[in-house]
Amino acid sequence: MVSWKLFSIAGIDIKLHWTTLLLLGLFLVLSVNSFLILLLLFISITFHELSHSLVAKGNGVKISQIILLPIGGMAVMKNAVIDPKVEFKMAIAGPLFNFAVCGLILIAAYLSGSSNLIYSMGYWNERLAGDILQDIGPMMVSSLFWLNFLLGAFNLFFPALPLDGGRVLRALLAMVMDYVKATRIATVISMFLTILLFLVSLVSMNLILLLISIFIFFGARSEMEFAVSHRLLRKIPVSNLMRKNFLMVDENTPLDALVADMIASRSLVAFSKEGKNITAVSIYKIGEVPKQRWGRMKFKDLAVVIKPVSPGTQVVTALTRMGKEGFEALPVVDNYHEVVGCLYKRDIDTILELLKVTKLS
Ligand SMILES: [Zn+2]
Repeated sequence: MVSWKLFSIAGIDIKLHWTTLLLLGLFLVLSVNSFLILLLLFISITFHELSHSLVAKGNGVKISQIILLPIGGMAVMKNAVIDPKVEFKMAIAGPLFNFAVCGLILIAAYLSGSSNLIYSMGYWNERLAGDILQDIGPMMVSSLFWLNFLLGAFNLFFPALPLDGGRVLRALLAMVMDYVKATRIATVISMFLTILLFLVSLVSMNLILLLISIFIFFGARSEMEFAVSHRLLRKIPVSNLMRKNFLMVDENTPLDALVADMIASRSLVAFSKEGKNITAVSIYKIGEVPKQRWGRMKFKDLAVVIKPVSPGTQVVTALTRMGKEGFEALPVVDNYHEVVGCLYKRDIDTILELLKVTKLS
C-alpha cells in the first residue's frame, strides 16, 4: 500500500494514500468546486481520525498512523481485545469532534449576526453544481458545516462495524458479554445493515453510497474473521497455555534485585502474595522508573492488585480480562488459592496465529 507521510502529530503519522492523491488531482482538473469540497472533506476526516487516535493514546491503546483513503480515514491499530469503556470513548470522540465543529460554526454565525452564513442543506447542495467561487466565503463555511454534520451523523448513527456506530454497539454489548461474542453479534448486524445500504444505493443509483457499503462490507468481514479466530480459543482452558515457571517475590524486594530475578527467570511479570491479595509488577512498569531510583524503590511501590484466573477458565475469558485491565499476564491459582502458573498474553497471541493457519485455512 503506497502512501506518503504528510505530517506527524503526537507521534502519529498522517499519511495520504496514492489513490486519494489521484482523486484530488483528478478533481482539480475536472472542477475547482469538487476539488475544494473534497479538500475540506479530507481535512475534516483527518481531524475526526485524530480525535479517535488521541483518545486512544490517552488510554494506552497504540495508534501508529492514520491513512487517508478516498473513502475516508483509517486509524491503524492492532486488531486487539480492548476495554469496552475505552473503545466506547474512542469511538464517539471522532463524531463528537465533527459535531463540535458544527456547534462552533453555529455560534460564530449567531455572534456575528450573519445567520445566513450557513446555507440550508438543500440550497448548499444546489449551489455545489454552480460556480461556488462567486460566494466562496459562505460556501466554504456551509460546506464545512454540512460535511462535518454528515460525517459525524453517518459515522455515529449507522451501527455497522467498522464505523464508529458499530464500535459503540460492540462496546455496549461487550460490557455485558465477552468481547468475542459481542464482536460476532455486532458483525451479523453490520452485514445485515450493509446489504440493506447496498440495495438502497442500487435503487437510488447513488455511487458514493454504493462505494461506502462495499467498504463497510469488507471492514465488517475482517472484524468477523477476528471473532471467528478468537472463538477457537473458547475450547482451550487456561491450564493448557499457562507457564509453570513464574516469579514470586517478597513485596519488599528492591527494584534492582527484582529486575535481576526477572532476567534470571525470563519473566516479564513478577507476582507477590500478601494475605489474600495477589499483586503484580511488569517489566514495562519498572521501565517507567528512572534507573537510579531502582535501589530505593520496592516491588510494593509499583505493585497493583490483580485478580487471578483458575486453570479451568477459558482462555478467551482471560483474554477479555487482560484487555479490560490492560495487563499482559495473569496469575493462575488453584482451589487453595495458591499460585500455580502464569498466563501470558503473548502465548495466547502465538496459539491464535497457529490456530488461524491450521483451522481456518
Ligand atoms: Zn470515526
